[in-house]
This record gives sequence, C-alpha cells and structure tokens, in this order.
Amino acid sequence: MMPVWGNGHWGWIDMGAVSHVTILWSLVAGATALLGAVHFAFWMANPQARVHLVFAITALAFVGVAATEIWGMHAATPQEWGAAVRWCHVPLYFLVVGLVAFVSLYLGTGRAWLGWGYVGLRSVIFAANFASETNFNFERIDSIERIRFLGDTVTVVGDAVVGKWQLLGLVSSALLVVYVLDACVTLWRRGDAEERRRALVVGGAFVAFAGAATAYVQLVLYGIVQLPLLITPMFLAPLAAMTYELSRDLLRASLLAGEVTGGKVRLELAATAADLGLGEWDSGSGRIWATSKARQLFGFGETEERSPQSWLDRIHPDDRVRVTEGLARSIRGNEDYVAEFRVSHDGHGTRWLTARGRASASGRGKGLVLRGVVRDVTQYREEHDEALELRRELAHSGRVSMLGQLASSLAHELSQPLGAILRNTEAAELMLQASTVDVEALREIVVDIQRDDRRAGLVIERLRSLLKRRELELQPLAVDGIVQDVLTLVHSDSASRHVHIDCRLEPSLPAVLGDRVHLSQVLLNLLLNAMDAVSGLTPDRRRVVVGAGRNGDGTIELYVADTGNGVPPDVAAQIFEPFFTTKPAGMGMGLAISRSIVERHGGSISLSNEPGRGARFSVVLPIDTEAA
Ligand code: ADP
Repeated sequence: MMPVWGNGHWGWIDMGAVSHVTILWSLVAGATALLGAVHFAFWMANPQARVHLVFAITALAFVGVAATEIWGMHAATPQEWGAAVRWCHVPLYFLVVGLVAFVSLYLGTGRAWLGWGYVGLRSVIFAANFASETNFNFERIDSIERIRFLGDTVTVVGDAVVGKWQLLGLVSSALLVVYVLDACVTLWRRGDAEERRRALVVGGAFVAFAGAATAYVQLVLYGIVQLPLLITPMFLAPLAAMTYELSRDLLRASLLAGEVTGGKVRLELAATAADLGLGEWDSGSGRIWATSKARQLFGFGETEERSPQSWLDRIHPDDRVRVTEGLARSIRGNEDYVAEFRVSHDGHGTRWLTARGRASASGRGKGLVLRGVVRDVTQYREEHDEALELRRELAHSGRVSMLGQLASSLAHELSQPLGAILRNTEAAELMLQASTVDVEALREIVVDIQRDDRRAGLVIERLRSLLKRRELELQPLAVDGIVQDVLTLVHSDSASRHVHIDCRLEPSLPAVLGDRVHLSQVLLNLLLNAMDAVSGLTPDRRRVVVGAGRNGDGTIELYVADTGNGVPPDVAAQIFEPFFTTKPAGMGMGLAISRSIVERHGGSISLSNEPGRGARFSVVLPIDTEAA
C-alpha cells in the first residue's frame, strides 16, 4: 500500500497493481538521468572537462539499458522478449564505450590500442546483433516463462538456443578487464596516494561490474539460473564509483575556487601595496578585468567598462605602434612581454608606465588570455634622464679638460700650417712683383697653401667635434679611423714631450658599433695618462704603444701600453673610481668616464699591470655583426 492524495482526502492504493520492478528501475534510471544532466551542465560550462560529458553520455545509456530491461521483463511473447534484448545492445554499446572513455580520460593511463581494440570488438558485436535474426545472444527463442521476481511477475527466457557467436561477448569482457586492470596498475605504480586511491576505486568497481555482469548473463543465457536478463544492478557499482570520483573532483574544484577568490583578493592587496596594477584580457570573450590601480594608471573610473581599443588609445601615439608590435612579437614567440611606454589622459599629463605580461591559451579553448602588471615609473624615468644628462655633462667636461691640457700644443699645431701659409703667400706676392711670372712655381705654392690649410682645418674639425656636447650615437666605426684621429690631436703634444708613440694596427679590422667622439675621448684619455706615466723617464725611454687587433671571440681589443712605472697594486682597484687621482693637478675623472662610455658600448675596460714595466689598458668592444 502507498499513501496518495485524491478527491480532497488522503487514501491508499494497492501497490500490487503497479509493477515493483518498473518502479524500482525507473527510480534508479531517473536518479541516474538527473546525475547525468548535472554533469552535462558542468561540461557545457567547462568544455575542457570532457570526462563529465562522458559521464553524462554513460548515464543516458544506462537509462536506455534500464528501459529495455523493463520492456524485456514485461514482454508478452518470445519475439517481443527477443526484440527487447536486441535493442538493449544499442544503449549497452554506448555504456561500455563510455566506461573505456572514462578510464582513458579520468585515469589517463589506459593503453590506446587496448581501448580501441575493445571498442572495435563491441562494434562487431553491435553489427552482429542487428545482422542476426533474433539478437546477438540467441539463435532462436522458442518460449518465454513468467516467474516471481522482487515481488513482481516478470518474463524470462524459456526454451531457446544460445547463439554461437555470443561467446565473443565473453572475450570482449575479458578485454575490458585487461584494459582497466592495465590502466589501474600503471597508475598505481607511478602515482601518489590520491592516484592510487583512484586506481583502486575505479579499477575495483569496473572489474567487479565486468566480472559479475558477464557471469550472471552467461548463467541466464544457458538456463543455469532462471532469472531475467539484467545488467542494471551490477552497473550500480561503476556508476557509484564514477559519481563518487567526479563529485570529489567537483568538491575539490569548488574549494579551490574559494581559495582562488581569496588568493585574488590577497594578490590585489599586495599589488596595490606595491603600487602595481594588474590586468587580464580574454581575446575570446573580449572581457577585460583590471584592478583599480591599473584603471587609475590608465585614467579610467572604478567600474567603467572599457573596450581593449580604449585602453590602447590611452597609450601615447608615438609609443602605440611599438607597444602593439612588441606584444604581437612576444605572443608569436611565446615569450614574456616587457615594455615601457607613456600614457596620457585628461588632467594627469603624461606618465611613464612599465608593463610586463604573458599570453596563454584561454581556458575556454578559444583565443588567448593576456595577463600583465603595470607600474608607474615616471619618477624613475625623470631621475634616469637627469642621470643621463649629468653623465653627458661629465663626459663633455672631461673632454674639455683634456683638450685644455692639449691647448698649448694644439695652438702650436695650428700655428705651424698658418705660418707656412703666410710664408707661401709672401713668396707668391714677391713673384707677382717680378716682370716675368713663373706660373709653375706659383701653382706649387698654391698646392702647398691648400695642403697646409687642410691640415689646420682637420685639427680644428677634430677639436670642434670633441667640444660638442652630444648624446651617444652608435654607428659602424672603423677602429683605425679613431686611432688616427686621436693621434692627429696628440701629435704635437707627444712631440713636445719627447714621447715616441708607436701605432700597431692589425690590417683590415672589422667595424665596431660605436660613437666616434666618445670612443675618441676614451683613447685620448688613455694616451694622455700614458704620456704622463712616461714623463719621468729619460726621453729615449718614453715609449707608448697604441694598437688594435681581433680577439677571436667576436670582439676587438684596443690597447694603450706604456713604459712607465705602472699602477701600484694597492691603488689598482681604485683607478676606475670617480675622483681617484695620484696627480697633483689631476681630476681623477678620466678613467671613470672612460669605463662608463665603454660599458655603454657593451664593452669592457681593464688594466693589466706589470710593475716596473708599465701599464697596459685594454678596451674590448664587440664587433658590429651587421656591418661584418
Ligand atoms: P687623472 O688622470 O685625472 O688622475 P684618471 O681617471 O685618468 O684621472 O686616472 C686615475 C689614476 O690612475 C691616475 O691618477 C693614475 O694614478 C692612474 N693611472 C692612469 N693611467 C696610468 C698609467 N698609464 N700608468 C700609471 N698610472 C696610471
């Protein structure tokens, strides 16, 4: 009896009138269908979680199997019963394929060829089932019988001839067991505690199902037991195992989601404290998420919804192309993206931002997700620019002071050609006063004047370029050209100080990427120091060598060696420090500036010192690979 509501009052209906088996099977099928629907919805929201789709399909197949079983248990004729068994093979096919797919996706250790072998065999069984006159399991069904089962009267097979090929069903079950066991053993061997637990639950339930269902079906088929042909009760084991596992995963995912939200809040707090703005752009959905700091840096309100283009529009027009091209390059190269750019928006003037980001595939399978951090570096940029300006000033004043040292000898260098020009013009004037003019001699005089003028012009030009205040401009440069320029400038100074300068340049040296004026300054400083170092020696021992050669590792060495006393070991570590000098009138900035210039060229400067035998300063610069 069961209570029911009707005609305005509660009453009882006799449950004997409704089939118990139908109620029971429908309840189980309904519950399974509901579970399947839940997992299907989950898969719709997370297409990557394909195991949930597999579960939903398997659950649906289970409902189909239960339905054909009810049909079979209520069949009125042998034909109807045979048809129910035949149609049961349709959902059964999806059910067992679903099991294989579940093992493959959930455990991840199934051997593909075994799995496909099993699916192939089930497909053969499926085809044979519909090719046969009755169904896969029976050749002939002569009669049916009605028996009591679970308090109900149900149809079972009576006289029948079992199909020859139905033993293939046994083989397929054995293959399923091998496939599942193999996957579980592999996972057990290589897995951690959690994976071992999974292997045990899934493996245990699946193998129990395959074993129990096969044994039961065979006993029924051969009439050893007289019971309805069923697999639904046995399938409850793998169904429970799959539900248990997936629910555990869902529970874990929801806990994780809670943690992620908490983590996000903490991250945002930390980022704000560190003055960082965080942002994320999903190219698939076009959605932009940004912390309030990031919005503020780009001049957007707290909740303002903005398109990717409007964020891009805030970038200074001069930087925009560079930023987008750099971004595209790093996405192509799968590298982190780093950029420094200006943003300008009303009322805030122009700010410098530095951004660092990374692109990764979107979780939804479509497009990319770009995540990044931005920071306001305006103050740092201003300080950096100031420092650069200061360095330029220093380098400039260093050059001016060096030229100051050369001034008297440079005046001499200039007065020589000017004197020669004067003398030549006087001679020409005298010649023009004579009655006959020697044109040939006059032409020679003009050639001399031109040569002297060029010499003076060259010195003035070198001087002017060294006196100009300028930024570092890198271009392909011949090292020997720099050496010749500087030797022209120090020529008269070395002559007046009786220093012999030897020039040893390796022929056809490749170019370096450098700034002519700044590198000349370095060499000039080294030469002046070398001449100072030998000034205490007798004139015949005052020797300086300037040379250049390849290093064989893609660099060129430019060196200045002298025959002075060298740098005492106790001060050698300090000579590149600013304001370190041992000279009474020295400023101590020459080597410090030289080092900064060389390092900005990607090179290095070093001293090798052999006390008593002079100092050797070596400047190593990378060869300009493009020009080479
Ligand atoms: P300054 O020449 O004004 O002293 P530098 O920075 O050019 O400044 O040189 C720093 C110091 O390094 C010099 O005072 C000197 O003691 C040492 N030094 C530089 N070149 C040589 C050299 N060729 N031989 C010996 N000592 C040197």
